[in-house]
Parts: sequence; C-alpha cells; structure tokens
Amino acid sequence: MTFAKMEYRRPDLNSVIDRYEEITLKFTEGVSADEQLDLIAQHEKILEKFQTLSTIAYIRNSVNTADPFYEKEMAFFDSSTPVFEEHVQRFYRAVASSRFRKELEQKTGPLFFKNLEIALRSFSPAVTDLKKRENALVTEYEKLLASAQIDFDGKVLNLSELQKYQISPNRSTRREAWEKAAGFFTEHSKRLDEIYDELVRNRTEQAKKLGYENYLPLGYDRLGRNCYGPEDVRKFRDQVSRNFVPFVAEIKSAQAKRLGISGLKIYDDACLFPDGNPVPEGGRQDLVEKAKKMYHEMGPATGEFFDFMLENDLFDLDSKKGKAGGGYCTDIPDYRAPFIFSNFNGTAGDVEVLTHEAGHAFASYLAFRNIPLAELRSPTMDAAETHSMSMELFSRPWDGLFFGGGAEKFHRYQLESALDFIPYGTLVDEFQTAMYENPGLSPDERKKMWLRLERKYRPWISFDGMPFFSEGGGYQRQHHIYSFPLYYIDYCLAQTTALEFWIASEKDWKEAFGRYLAFVKAGGTKTYKELVRQAGLGYPMDSGCLKRLCESVSPKLGL
Ligand code: ZN
Repeated sequence: MTFAKMEYRRPDLNSVIDRYEEITLKFTEGVSADEQLDLIAQHEKILEKFQTLSTIAYIRNSVNTADPFYEKEMAFFDSSTPVFEEHVQRFYRAVASSRFRKELEQKTGPLFFKNLEIALRSFSPAVTDLKKRENALVTEYEKLLASAQIDFDGKVLNLSELQKYQISPNRSTRREAWEKAAGFFTEHSKRLDEIYDELVRNRTEQAKKLGYENYLPLGYDRLGRNCYGPEDVRKFRDQVSRNFVPFVAEIKSAQAKRLGISGLKIYDDACLFPDGNPVPEGGRQDLVEKAKKMYHEMGPATGEFFDFMLENDLFDLDSKKGKAGGGYCTDIPDYRAPFIFSNFNGTAGDVEVLTHEAGHAFASYLAFRNIPLAELRSPTMDAAETHSMSMELFSRPWDGLFFGGGAEKFHRYQLESALDFIPYGTLVDEFQTAMYENPGLSPDERKKMWLRLERKYRPWISFDGMPFFSEGGGYQRQHHIYSFPLYYIDYCLAQTTALEFWIASEKDWKEAFGRYLAFVKAGGTKTYKELVRQAGLGYPMDSGCLKRLCESVSPKLGL
C-alpha cells in the first residue's frame, strides 16, 4: 500500500490500556508455555498497531511541521506514549518472571530476555511525568530549528537548504553562510541553553528515581546496549584520540593544501576540494532511477527491496518549506514497510541518503520478513548504523552512475569524510558523557567543555572570527545531543565496522557483501559484538583495532 493511502486514526488509549491489562493478567495466570507464547503474539499485534499510527503521524508531521492536524497528533503521542509504554513494561515484567521462562527462551532465544531485563530496569511509572516533559522539550528544540528562515542568495532558506552554501567552493560564500547559520543560533542561544539545561537535569532526575548513579548508565540501558558499557567506550575514545586524531590531522593538512589555504577555519572544514565537493548528476527522479539500477545489480535481495520501496511510494525526499530538517529512515510495522525521509539539496548528500537510509530500510525490509518477534528485528544502534554506513561503502563500484566523471573525486570525498567523522563523533560522545557525569554545570561551563573537546579531537579547526563557535556554542547545532542522548558513539563504532567491511570488499567485493548480508539478516537476534565477530571483523573496543584500521586505510588514501 502506498504511504499516502495508509489510514491514520488516533488510537483509543483507554481501550489499548484495557487490552494490556487483560493480556497481562492472563499471562500471570497462564497455565502453559504455549498459552503465554500466544499472549506474547497478541501483545506484538497491539504494539505494532500503536507504533504504526504513531509513526504515520510522525512522518506526516515532519513532512509538514505547519500542519495543525498532525501537530496535535504529535502532542497526543508525546503525552500518551509514556503511558502506553508503562503498560507494555508491565506486560514485559510479567513475561520476565514467567514460570515457563526456560520453554519460552527456547522459542525466543536468550537475547530476548536479556534485552527485556535491560528495558525493565530503565523504565518505571515513577518517571512518566519526567519523560513527558523530556519529550516536550525535545519537540520544542526540533521545532525551533525547523522554524529557521534565513535570507540568503535572494531566497528564504531553512537550515538544511543553507548547507549547500556552507560547503561552497567560494570561500566568502561559505563563510557568509556559516555566519548566517551562527546568527540564527546566536539569536536563539539563550533558549537553547535553557532547553539543554533542563534536559540534563530532567534526565538526571529520572536516573536517580530509577536507582542509577547518574544518567550515563541509564542512557546506555535506554539504548538497549547489551554487550558493552561506558568503560569500554572510554577505551574506544582513547584509541580515537591516540590513533585517529593524528591520522586525520594529516588528511586535513592535505585538504588545506588542496584548497590553497594555510589553515582550516570552521567554514573550510567540510569543503574538501577547491572546485567544490562532488555533485551528483541529475535531480531526485534521476538519482532514484540510478539507485534502482544499482540495487538490482547488487543482488536479488536488494533489487526486490528497492522495487518494494518504489511501488509503495515510501520516500519523501524533496526539501520544502516547513519540512523538518535532516533525514531518517523509520518503520511502519503493520505494512511491513520502511519509510525514508530526506531533504535533497543537490549535494553528494542526496546520493548518501539513497545508500545510507536505504541501508537501514533494507535491513528492516528483511527483518519484517524473517524475524517474527518485533523486539528482535533491530539490533542496537551501533549495528543498525553498520547496516547503513556499510551500504554507503559497498555502493562504491556504482559511483560512476551517480557522479559520472566525478566518481574518483567522490571516492576520495567519501573516504575522507568517513575518517574525519570518527573524531567528531567521539567528541560528541565525550561531551555528552561529561554532561551527564557533571549535571550541575552551568551553560557557560558546558560551552567551555565543548570547546576543550573540540581542541582535543579536532585541533586542526580554527574558529577565528566566528564568536558563536569560538565561545563553544557548536554543540547546539548537533541535534542528537538534545534529541537522542548518548546516541552518537554508535555512528563511530559503525563507521569503524563499515570501514572494516570496505577493506574486505577491496579484496573481494562479493565475498565481503555475503558477510554483510549475513550481518544484516541476523537483525537484532545477536549483539553487536557477536555480529562483528561473526563477520570476521575487528571489534572496535579491542585494543589495537583502530591502529590496524589506520594502517590498512592509509595506503589507499595516496596522500
Ligand atoms: Zn543512520
């Protein structure tokens, strides 16, 4: 069914709650494992229905944030989702203490129960009101950013549309575009300070109420991390600062040379070539056609998947006024359908959406068809981002299709951006870790911390002449810091694993892609660590992993 035809009706929260009470009671009284399995199946149906409706509302609201109908529906979900979750948790609690746990585990696998326990300890009705407030603050942040109307180049642009100018080959154009963006953030800086301040305090209070020392371990649990903790991530960050920062510093100094400048300013950082970054050939329709050809040539599974996306119109790619920024891929469970949202702007980013977001979509397309339990369809986000980031690199043989004669240039662009991302992502993680370990910091102290970490992880960037950045405001642009706490290191782990897949694909694309398919097909039935090991790749938290990776990648850069 096409997305436009999918019906939306606000769910009746009371009847959903009644249903949960009924099945939870029956489960507790359950006389056999089979009966309990049947109740788990009933729960899956209610859960998927609710998620389907909330996702449809979410998509339609992000496609047009000015539509009052879906704005109201989002407000409904902001306040009712925590109540809904409370009842789901109550059901899970009954499942976790089932008398037939052994028999159930044989059907579901042990990870199902492990994940359940992690989820249970991180939620409680005692924090429902705090979570409602947290949701409202996140919504306010996102609306504030989406409201940006910036006069530039004779047009009125939103922040996504402005990005194109921020990487212009003309240095004064990109400088001016960065100044405009900084101007928007400076104008709203006080409110952005307040929103983040309240978010950190709110999340800390939730952690305390749930018996955690601070939000850090709670955040890990909320992300369902089931195979590593903050200490392992610290080891990964150490490797990044030791091995990756000096490696990327070399790449950045070559970039400055290429641009013919003596040092990189913040507005030069993302402009990799003097004649501008590679741009794809053709508009949205063209690129989608090319992607179709590529996915068919990759193999039958990817071809079938992409046809499904096209037949059911599961994309919203054009940038429009009032549309939320960025891009995402989400799932509509009742239709076994993924959905891809983006803001095409004529940059290489458009192609990256068709590989990155499509990598996510491909994984959920497979999971809907192979994994019956909703809870086991998606792995933790590190592995999920591996699906998408690896797809970006597996698509390299088709770059000629999208970039024509600029394919080689895109290759360099893609590889350098992937490597450059790892220190930045690690900076975002260390910042958030520090924020939740020290929740009492003032807004100014937060900015100082961001700036200190900028120097640690991106010492090559100068903020000279850009007060918003030189005062440490840069974190306010990073929407994950507000909206998805502690979710960012996942990208760095995933980028590492994706680069490992790429190194393997350089030796034998087909063989490496086969290992990738097995990784993706396992969905969430295995932990990230198990998936990486099963694929025969280096595990990022193991010492020496990043050093070896730098050594394998370095000769391919030809600096
Ligand atoms: Zn992603």
